[in-house]
Amino acid sequence: MPDMPDLTRRRLLAAGTFAPLALGATRAAGQQAHGTPLAGDFLLPDRPGEKLRWAVVGLGNFAVGEAIPGFIDSRHARMTAFVSGSPAKQKDLGSRFGVSRFYDYANFDSIANDPEIDCVYIILPVGLHAEYTIRALKAGKHVLCEKPMASTSAECEAMIAAAKAAKRQLGIAYRIHFEPTNVLARQLIEHGEIGDIRFVSADHGFNADPQYGPHKWRLEKALAGGGSMFDIGIYGLNTSLMALGREPDELSARYIYPRDDPRFREVEGGIEYRLRMADGVSVVGSSSYSWNPYISQQRYMGSKASLFMKPATTYNRNTITIEGNGPTREVGAGNPLTQFAAQIDAFSLAARANTPHKTPGEMGLRDIRLIEAMYRSADNGGEIVKL
Ligand code: NAD
Repeated sequence: MPDMPDLTRRRLLAAGTFAPLALGATRAAGQQAHGTPLAGDFLLPDRPGEKLRWAVVGLGNFAVGEAIPGFIDSRHARMTAFVSGSPAKQKDLGSRFGVSRFYDYANFDSIANDPEIDCVYIILPVGLHAEYTIRALKAGKHVLCEKPMASTSAECEAMIAAAKAAKRQLGIAYRIHFEPTNVLARQLIEHGEIGDIRFVSADHGFNADPQYGPHKWRLEKALAGGGSMFDIGIYGLNTSLMALGREPDELSARYIYPRDDPRFREVEGGIEYRLRMADGVSVVGSSSYSWNPYISQQRYMGSKASLFMKPATTYNRNTITIEGNGPTREVGAGNPLTQFAAQIDAFSLAARANTPHKTPGEMGLRDIRLIEAMYRSADNGGEIVKL
């Protein structure tokens, strides 16, 4: 069966098929069909002239396919500028999304003089996150930076310091915190649907193709920071900690990829890890760049029932199945595609009030520190690292 969301207006728009103005009714119909309001529906939409104005930096795969179309549904944000090394991409996307202010990587700092930009969304390879985030903060803009936050915890600390110095907000784009299925899973766990939580497992991976541009840089340490755990395993780590609402005391990890695979000369191809909480709960996770098919699954085992999500952290089709404490049931939670607009809206409101975003730089730093601790453990044969 074809992947139904490929037929949605987002993909059609990204492909240049629809004009943005034609889409409002589709959004309303989609929401009604799913019966769930967008996260952030508690506030009325801003009038167009009052929306926060955003520059998107990097017009690659994720930006064009997901993040940029997310602005169409936004109530509090609109795009005013693109930053890219490709004038052709800027022109094409600009005409489709009504954006006419274009910068390149060399003149990027001059956004400081552009009053039509309030927020900057960094969607570049990880190795460039710190540089462009700090430049945007120095230009006086609020910054939402894609995950993982940066290549090292030292870079993350420098980004947080730059935000403090500039008195601007820094958020990390952990979209799962705004994805209805994962938000519902967290609420069900909090409200005792599966009893006391005992154990969590999280597995995320895909097969990296070194010939494919967006995968190529993910295999180069200078641009990727780390390997599968940085890019895809981080979903399991961050999502598990979101659902549990607490932090681990210690961890251990081991590399799991075949060492002779030439793709993984610079970054790890796979890792398994165990986080231990003070109350005895464990999170056991894995990530890989050598699995087929793409895997995204989370399982929460409780004293009364277990909550299983497969897929768990995709853009468009996450599911919850609860086994135990009654008949096995699937629980719906609304359209996952709303996560992109919800995230942009939440950051816009935080920027306007100059209050911390739900997923701030400090959360990005925590995750990079945990992954660095995993690498230390794996480098030392899986030794336990106290946190
Ligand atoms: P991509 O390769 O498709 O896009 C990267 C963009 O950066 C390209 O437009 C490229 O031209 C530009 N770029 C600028 N300088 C570059 C350089 N020196 N080397 C390589 N590219 C350069 O990658 P992507 O998959 O779109 O990932 C971009 C960011 O988005 C990453 O931080 C990634 O982790 C993140 N991402 C997030 C999600 C999510 O679900 N939140 C999903 C995919 C990617």
